[in-house]
Amino acid sequence: EPGLYIVATPIGNLADLSPRAADILARADLIAVEDSRVTAGLLRHIGTKRPMIPYHDHNAEGMRPGLIARMTTEAVALVSDAGTPLISDPGYKLVRDARAAGRNVVTIPGPCAAIAALTLAGLPTDRFLFCGFLPSKAKARVDAIGEVAAIRATLIFYESGPRLSACLSALAEGLGDREAAVTREITKRYEEAVTGTLTHLAMRYADAPPKGEIVIVVAPPGDEPLPEAADADAALAEALTRLP
Ligand code: SAM
Repeated sequence: EPGLYIVATPIGNLADLSPRAADILARADLIAVEDSRVTAGLLRHIGTKRPMIPYHDHNAEGMRPGLIARMTTEAVALVSDAGTPLISDPGYKLVRDARAAGRNVVTIPGPCAAIAALTLAGLPTDRFLFCGFLPSKAKARVDAIGEVAAIRATLIFYESGPRLSACLSALAEGLGDREAAVTREITKRYEEAVTGTLTHLAMRYADAPPKGEIVIVVAPPGDEPLPEAADADAALAEALTRLP
């Protein structure tokens, strides 16, 4: 059937591609992709080849009208390099415009790093807030953290290895020294989840930035020390004394 198909793909382990996702991809007239090399690999895995068209932050605006037009008669699938499209990835405007144009919109749910991390963290799951990537500039990061500090929910952040320790320190300073989990390489060979307080985790990763893809999960506000620089410094000094 013609329309737009939002297809979640694996975040590491190819066996996580659902049979329905594989079926839709194999039958799509066109697949809108972030990186054609990545999606070509996935298609090879399921033994198929389909026409692909790039759809990413830099060309999305220009690509949308043509894609929406093609959805009248063709099945157009949208995928990201990994995980669920639209989640810290392009796509919501395509869905918005497809709907506005009266196209059929179908989702094929599957892997999502944020949800997978939440299931590994061992932190409350009744209320959570997905915060995406924090800004890389220090001032903007402090502001972004301040905006969520009072929210009574578990917080989920996407991050990359090199920035991890700085990010954890900024979180400790802005949120107080809450319990947290650093989850890494989910569904891959070196999957791990390391738990501890934010300052403990910041120390742990200070000298050894981990490789791979990371999700940070932070507990809701509780009775941890007040999020003031002085307290964070004291906690850091105290943590230092406990190092082997
Ligand atoms: N749309 C994808 C999703 O929700 O699954 C996420 C895309 S975002 C551009 C990429 C970020 O997702 C990475 O920087 C990392 O924070 C997270 N991520 C993706 N795959 C991961 C994995 N296997 N383990 C841990 N984090 C992962």
